[in-house]
Amino acid sequence: MTVKQASTISRRSFLASTGLAATGALLAPRGLFAAADAVVARGLVEKARNEAASATISGQRLRGNVSLLMGAGGNIAVLPGRDGKLLIDAGFAGARPKIADALAGISSDPIKHLINSHWHFDHTDGNEWLHSAGATILAHENTRKHLSVNTRVEGWDFTFATSPPGAIPSDVLTTERTLDLNGEKIALKHYAPAHTDSDIYVHFTDADIIHVADTFWNGYYPFIDYSTGGSIDGMIRATEANLAKITKKTIVIPGHGAVGDRSELVFYRDLLVTTRDKVAILKKQGRSLDEIVVAKPTGAWDDQWGGGFMSPRMFTGLVFEGV
Ligand SMILES: [Zn+2]
Repeated sequence: MTVKQASTISRRSFLASTGLAATGALLAPRGLFAAADAVVARGLVEKARNEAASATISGQRLRGNVSLLMGAGGNIAVLPGRDGKLLIDAGFAGARPKIADALAGISSDPIKHLINSHWHFDHTDGNEWLHSAGATILAHENTRKHLSVNTRVEGWDFTFATSPPGAIPSDVLTTERTLDLNGEKIALKHYAPAHTDSDIYVHFTDADIIHVADTFWNGYYPFIDYSTGGSIDGMIRATEANLAKITKKTIVIPGHGAVGDRSELVFYRDLLVTTRDKVAILKKQGRSLDEIVVAKPTGAWDDQWGGGFMSPRMFTGLVFEGV
């Protein structure tokens, strides 16, 4: 695996190297939207899983000993060392051979620890193989809860079947936890419900790198999973909590998109707040979602942010649902 410095990889080259742009429709929501949107959402979970085998994984050395793997679902952080490799998130199961290659390229340490940032399939589908390879899985208790039963996500028009026993976290936290692994202190904390009710951040406090789960999508409108506790207000609260926690030196790993920093998180917070406020005013005036979409509440960012997972219409619909 080629390891690039964080500063040398642009979002454009990231998109080109991972093929994420091509599978950009992955996280489209349904719910309130027109029939055409429902048709788009239907089948996306299977499609994403099927395409995982041909995904291209790109690696990036961040700071200290922490690396990032992108391209097979959510962003995967890796901390190798004498205690065995720690992974934050598992990606798609179909990308196993490529993820295994990328991990082998980082170090020869065995895989010992996996933390799930939240329960969604693009972060947990690889749980079973990573467990079989030697990983103990730690997550928030709601991640274990959702993986342990059939769980419906209206926004994806999909019901996820109960996960196999090996994929279910054997260790859970309810509020917070600190770990000391591979010479790094690692702080985990549960967010109030935001993207789901199972989101946690993982902060490598010595390297000052924080993985903020899917509370942050860098360069794409975010998906919000109302079916398992998410909301636009929760996303904003989580982003404020992230901003209160970090400094301008902190490296921020989003759930999706290129690594960012404080200034990018401020931009994202303002985008969420402005959209929420505009949509709330229009909805209070009695406008329908279709009418609000025509008013383009996200118009200022659509060129840059609307071409990925979530179209402006879909994101506006998710905000509409929560105001
Ligand atoms: Zn997610």
